[in-house]
Amino acid sequence: MAVYDPRSLKADEFINHEEIEETLKYADENRHNIELIDEILEKARPKKRGNGYVCSGLTHREASVLLACDIPEKEEKMFEIAEEIKLAYYGNRIVLFAPLYLSNYCINGCLYCPYHLKNKHIPRKKLTQEEVAKEVIALQDMGHKRLAIESGEDPVNNPIEYILECIDTIYSIKHKNGAIRRVNVNIAATTVENYKKLHDAGIGTYILFQETYHKDSYEELHPTGPKHDYAYHTEAMDRAMEGGIDDVGLGVLFGLEKYRYEFAGLLMHAEHLEAVHGVGPHTISVPRVKKAEDIDPDAFDNSISDEMFEKLTACIRLAVPYTGMIVSTRETEEVRSKMLRLGISQVSGGSRTSVGGYTQEERPHDTEQFDVSDQRTLDDVVRWLMQNGHIPSFCTACYRAGRTGDRFMSLCKSGQILNCCHPNALMTLTEYLVDYASEETRAIGYKMIEDELNKIPNPKVKETALQNIIDIKNSNRRDFRF
Ligand code: SAM
Repeated sequence: MAVYDPRSLKADEFINHEEIEETLKYADENRHNIELIDEILEKARPKKRGNGYVCSGLTHREASVLLACDIPEKEEKMFEIAEEIKLAYYGNRIVLFAPLYLSNYCINGCLYCPYHLKNKHIPRKKLTQEEVAKEVIALQDMGHKRLAIESGEDPVNNPIEYILECIDTIYSIKHKNGAIRRVNVNIAATTVENYKKLHDAGIGTYILFQETYHKDSYEELHPTGPKHDYAYHTEAMDRAMEGGIDDVGLGVLFGLEKYRYEFAGLLMHAEHLEAVHGVGPHTISVPRVKKAEDIDPDAFDNSISDEMFEKLTACIRLAVPYTGMIVSTRETEEVRSKMLRLGISQVSGGSRTSVGGYTQEERPHDTEQFDVSDQRTLDDVVRWLMQNGHIPSFCTACYRAGRTGDRFMSLCKSGQILNCCHPNALMTLTEYLVDYASEETRAIGYKMIEDELNKIPNPKVKETALQNIIDIKNSNRRDFRF
């Protein structure tokens, strides 16, 4: 039997089944232990230190107790602290991105994904470089600066060389005042050598969803193809880090397995990355299984209510305070609104999940990966964020200034966000407003920028930010950053 060891490089030792079972038992035993719950909540709360805040985070055991606790008053506290942590580390900024689907050719048999090999009625499509360029122009014309590229796994149709060529194309397109400045990559688990190539191509975050941490379920849900190998998939982030990628993004596809099991596994994965590499996950995504061509989400009987999903999000924020938390357009506007108060720091907007979808007038469904619940335009999402007190940010400065891995984490903890990320958000928002926004959004945005500039503590930074904003409005000069 494998023994739990967060420092081990073996999947069944750092995501240890027995430890998860023990954790769930401990959480059940303590779910009404008020004294312990109060202690855990107090530990999670941000503490002022110098100019910034320090949040200690929670262990997978502590966070599992909170998740199991159903006392309404304590749940309220969890939500409150989740928002406090988000504000302490990330301020009121929300980073925007869009997915770009490159190819739906896939040789895996994932039971929840319409791209699975046996699905013969989905048209298979892979973008040519000309088509990639057209999609990128369409995305730039919406105002996007940050993409997450997505592809099925197929070494013949989508080899790593194809992915690298697409990344080159994406970075090379400069249409009007537009540019894609950060390409995050969500492709199947691969070798250290391929991760090195992705790193050299200048990617931002390498994202790979675990789908489920439960090994037996994982093997059943991935009956065929290279993705069947649980250990290879689970150990992918260690290989990515060995290949030089410091920013990795975790995620679980909620609905496949029991959420409490997944929650403990996800936190153990984060603890493992910290223990081995000295830096935890740059982001954590919280996708839920959606209806898709050939896929009925009801076939998976572990779906969770919106309320539990929101609590789960808040508990992840309490446990892993520094991580960026992402919610996609799989969720409705209503759910996303609530989640923005519970720790989410990144959202997608105006997304299309079909291969070649951005260049088509009407939202195409034939090659779509899943139904998009939030179908609003990027402009609608930007305006909605501002109307709810969030600053939409198109900033990509950190990794371009070398602030990746632990350097990003230190920035988060140092309290320099108001002198760095905050003005960057305001400058990139100005770019969006000048180049792409509707009249209504622009008016709301300019007012917000005026108010938010006053929050920059360092007078020199404030003056420079203001000057840059004036420059953006009056010229074609772009891409200012601190
Ligand atoms: N092919 C890559 C891999 O195997 O990891 C990643 C790309 S895939 C396009 C991105 C993610 O979409 C998957 O990791 C999975 O979690 C999610 N996904 C697949 N089917 C889905 C569905 N029906 N509803 C919601 N998300 C889904």
